[in-house]
Amino acid sequence: MPLAYVLNPLDRRANDRPDAQWIAGQRQRPDAKLVRIAGDQTLIAAGRLLTANAPSGGLTVFLGLDRSGTPWFACRTEETEGLRDLRSLAMEEALPPEELGILAQARSLIQWHERRNFCSNCAHTLEIADAGYRRHCAGCGMDHFPRTDPVVIIVVRHGRRVLLGRQKAWKPGMYSALAGFVEPGETIEDAARREVFEEAGIRVGEVRYVASQPWPFLSNLMIGLIGEALTSEITLDTNELEEARWFEESEARQMVERTHPEGLYAANPMAIAHGLVKTALAG
Ligand SMILES: [Zn+2]
Repeated sequence: MPLAYVLNPLDRRANDRPDAQWIAGQRQRPDAKLVRIAGDQTLIAAGRLLTANAPSGGLTVFLGLDRSGTPWFACRTEETEGLRDLRSLAMEEALPPEELGILAQARSLIQWHERRNFCSNCAHTLEIADAGYRRHCAGCGMDHFPRTDPVVIIVVRHGRRVLLGRQKAWKPGMYSALAGFVEPGETIEDAARREVFEEAGIRVGEVRYVASQPWPFLSNLMIGLIGEALTSEITLDTNELEEARWFEESEARQMVERTHPEGLYAANPMAIAHGLVKTALAG
C-alpha cells in the first residue's frame, strides 16, 4: 500500500490564481471539476472522486490544473447521502493515489475557511481572496493565509532496537512512532528530541529527515525522522502514551509484515510511521 495523500498531481498556479479574471475563465470551463467536501467526507463513485461540473456559488476554492490542463475546485457540500470518510478511502485504497492527494488539499483548505470567518486581529468579517488562498480583512487590512501545522514523527533506534509507543485510544496491537507538534522558535530536530524525551524519557542525539506526509485531519504536515538514542531507560508520560517499548529488530519486522504472533503491528501502511519503521530496520 502506498503512503496516502502524498501524490498530488495538481499545478497550483500560485502566480495566476490571484487574477480574478483568470479564475473566472477556469470556473466557466465545461470540463472544470468540483470536489465536494463535508467535514472529513466526500463523494465517490466507481473508484473515482465524484466531481460536479460547475463550481457552486458558495464557498469554493481553486485547487489547481491537472496534467491534462483540467481545472479542479473544491467546495463544501450539504449532501448527506453516499459520503465516504477520507481515512477509510485511504486504508481501503478506494481511490487512485493522485485523487487522495487532491482530496487532502481540498479537505484542509475547506476546513480552514470554515473556521476563519472573522479576523483574529479586529474581529471584522473576512473576505475570500486569491481563489481561496488568502482571506482579507477590510477592517484592519490584515491578510490571513491557509495554514498547515508541522508535526515531527520519529522512530528512535538504539543498536538493533527501535522505540515505538501506543496511545490508549488506538486499536489493540497497534504501535507507532512518537509524534508531536513543532513549537514556535524550535527546529525540527529539537522538536523531535523534546517530544521523545517528554513522552518516553529517552535522550536523542542525531536526527535524520526521511520523508513527509500531508495529514488532512485537520491540516498537519507530518515530518518523518529517524533518530539515534543516547540513553535507553524509558520513563513513560502516561498522559501521552499508554506504553512505550524497545522492540528488537526481528520483532519489529514481524510487526511491519503483520506476522507478529501476538498480533502487534507497526501503524497502518497508509501512514508515514509504518514507512519510518521499515526505513529504520533497513539501516
Ligand atoms: Zn482585521
